[in-house]
Amino acid sequence: MIYDVVVIGGGPSGLSAAFYASRARLKTLLIEKNACGGQMLMTDMIDNYPGFCEGISGFDLAVRLEKQIKDFSAELIYDEVISIECNYFFKKVITRKLTYETKSIIVAAGTLVKKMNVPGELKFIGRGVSFCAVCDAPFYRDKDVLVVGGGDSAIQEAVYLSKFARKVTVIHRRSSLRAIKVLQERVVLCKNISVLYNSVVKEVLGEDSIDKVVITNVKTHEDRYLGTDGIFVFIGLIPNTLFLPNVILDEMKYIVTDETMNTFISGVFACGDIRKKRLRQIVTAASDGSQAAVSAQNYIEAQVK
Ligand SMILES: Cc1cc2nc3c(=O)[nH]c(=O)nc-3n(C[C@H](O)[C@H](O)[C@H](O)COP(=O)(O)OP(=O)(O)OC[C@H]3O[C@@H](n4cnc5c(N)ncnc54)[C@H](O)[C@@H]3O)c2cc1C
Repeated sequence: MIYDVVVIGGGPSGLSAAFYASRARLKTLLIEKNACGGQMLMTDMIDNYPGFCEGISGFDLAVRLEKQIKDFSAELIYDEVISIECNYFFKKVITRKLTYETKSIIVAAGTLVKKMNVPGELKFIGRGVSFCAVCDAPFYRDKDVLVVGGGDSAIQEAVYLSKFARKVTVIHRRSSLRAIKVLQERVVLCKNISVLYNSVVKEVLGEDSIDKVVITNVKTHEDRYLGTDGIFVFIGLIPNTLFLPNVILDEMKYIVTDETMNTFISGVFACGDIRKKRLRQIVTAASDGSQAAVSAQNYIEAQVK
């Protein structure tokens, strides 16, 4: 069996690609290693996706997108892709369990959240250090938490956490937040959120669970202890490109594409957060996915001629 398109990753970009490809009657396989939805599953309320005036939860949007691909008979399997092989006539997608042959590949494997890489962080993952407020906020009801980061995701998550925690302290390395104005305004309205500027976490301390962190002021280089029950880290992203050939990556390991999602390998396309681009959002991921599917279709049709 040779597929027309194998899509790697079931976040919004991969689901949109699979939806467009299967709707165009291409024989489509989507391979997802965890659960369909990708980073959307870490988002409580998406209030910037066009058409959803009241917002929609990340989980609900993921369920809707997954239903759409199934309605058009795309195949979905749960497995992890560990490498791809490409020559002019056919391509192989190799997973932990099987190898799939295909005419084209769409890489939509997204990103991972970055760790702080400080002592104590790894030890307390799942016991006080979290990268997902939606998953873990209920454990911190009436407790004190820190949010590390100052971009959109960090501030969005701080606002979400403020509904559960007694006190939320945002630790940000710069002297002003990077998040868009509308999110900054929400912080001002939340009386239990405060921001500690020019600060980074140096160490996470505790016995069985976290009880404090060491904070360094990056201007004065002074250290001090800050008591906390949990830390939520949102300091950036790392592209999931370890399984891909270096030739399609830039120096930051993001995939380089043109505006129709072509990579440097003919018949291999990329979409969503994994690609080198300026705006990493659900709406741009979905847009990329649709373009990648149309490019894959054009590529397959050109091969036949
Ligand atoms: C906390 C947080 C809040 C956010 N809030 C918003 C928001 O409100 N609005 C907004 O527009 N955007 C938001 N974003 C950003 C948005 O979620 C991303 O831009 C979007 O999910 C990117 O989609 P994607 O499909 O490219 O990648 P992802 O969502 O990262 O999905 C990639 C998928 O690929 C899978 N995968 C990875 N490697 C492999 C492999 N080797 N084999 C098989 N599968 C693999 C992963 O398991 C994952 O499911 C938020 C992000 C975070 C972290």
